[in-house]
Amino acid sequence: MRTGFFWDESCFWHGGGNYASMMPVGGLVQPMVNGGLPESPESKRRFKNLLDMTGLSGELAMQSADAASTQDLLRVHPKSYLDQFKAMSDAGGGEIGLRCSFGPGGYEIAAQSSGLAIGALNAVLKGDVRNAYSLSRPPGHHCMPDEPMGFCLLANIAIAVEAARAAGLTKRVAVLDWDVHHGNGTEAIFYDRADVLTVSIHQENNFPVDTGRFEDRGQGAGEGFNLNIPLPAGAGHASYLEVMEAIVLPRLRAYQPEVIIVACGFDATIIDPLGRMSATAETFKRMTHQVMALADDICDGRLVMVHEGGYSEVYVPFCGHGVLEQMSGSNITAPDPMAALYEKRQPGQAHQRFVSGEIAQMRDALGL
Ligand code: ZN
Repeated sequence: MRTGFFWDESCFWHGGGNYASMMPVGGLVQPMVNGGLPESPESKRRFKNLLDMTGLSGELAMQSADAASTQDLLRVHPKSYLDQFKAMSDAGGGEIGLRCSFGPGGYEIAAQSSGLAIGALNAVLKGDVRNAYSLSRPPGHHCMPDEPMGFCLLANIAIAVEAARAAGLTKRVAVLDWDVHHGNGTEAIFYDRADVLTVSIHQENNFPVDTGRFEDRGQGAGEGFNLNIPLPAGAGHASYLEVMEAIVLPRLRAYQPEVIIVACGFDATIIDPLGRMSATAETFKRMTHQVMALADDICDGRLVMVHEGGYSEVYVPFCGHGVLEQMSGSNITAPDPMAALYEKRQPGQAHQRFVSGEIAQMRDALGL
């Protein structure tokens, strides 16, 4: 069985407003020639282009999927929010939440982005593919039911989980979010539920501020089924692999999900403009290897990745290619052009040792 790769040209056509990086243009902030928010199509388009250039896409089951239906969206978002979003979209676009700009047709493009996640999850659960990657855009993990934020207009992963549950395809899901920002939307949607385990590894207090604390573990029936692992700025390759090995994999194993979904952001890299971490393409490759080995062990290899952030237009493609190499088991590689620049900078630095101490404390607190 092959690896599914779900993408749709329309997702590259989502518009991002009149910004220069995170700052609205105006006053002393000069418009940029290639302006807009950092969440641009280029990182995603170049990722897909690199798969084509190396030939890896020829080994994947490349496909689109139906857009999410209104019924799919209503399982997560209130009608009032969807109506407001659709009306603005029909009127030519605008900005509906914090850094949530979109152009004409933005609603339909967001529904397509969610639809790709639904398609990827369904294909894995039905056994049509071995595992799957959804190149969703706009991203989804910050989006609350009635409050879009951080480029996220619809909660793609939550929508996919609820669609699969409604279709009777799964009852127990784990979501691992390794985007550099806290997966606060996914957390909020499932915070009081035990049937979806949510785990987020992120840079401490990057975005949103004051969320994603280690102490926030879920509530009510969901008590113990949410886990946040905030890491200090600067943490890199060794720290990420150690966190996975010491905390994330044991927690996922204990939970015994039927499928693992990764909220796959590539913004924890050493070159990303919206994060201050030091992961490399190799880090994502190795974490993919780790989570695949666990999935093989506990849930017949059922693994779905849904694209979230990642804002280096030059580096995201190599991170993504590495993940797909692992998922598909292909021999086609795209060597990391930046590896030589960074490979000697990380081991043994003070912040890496600090993270090891933190991890030991977290393990104690969780009884691992
Ligand atoms: Zn992010």
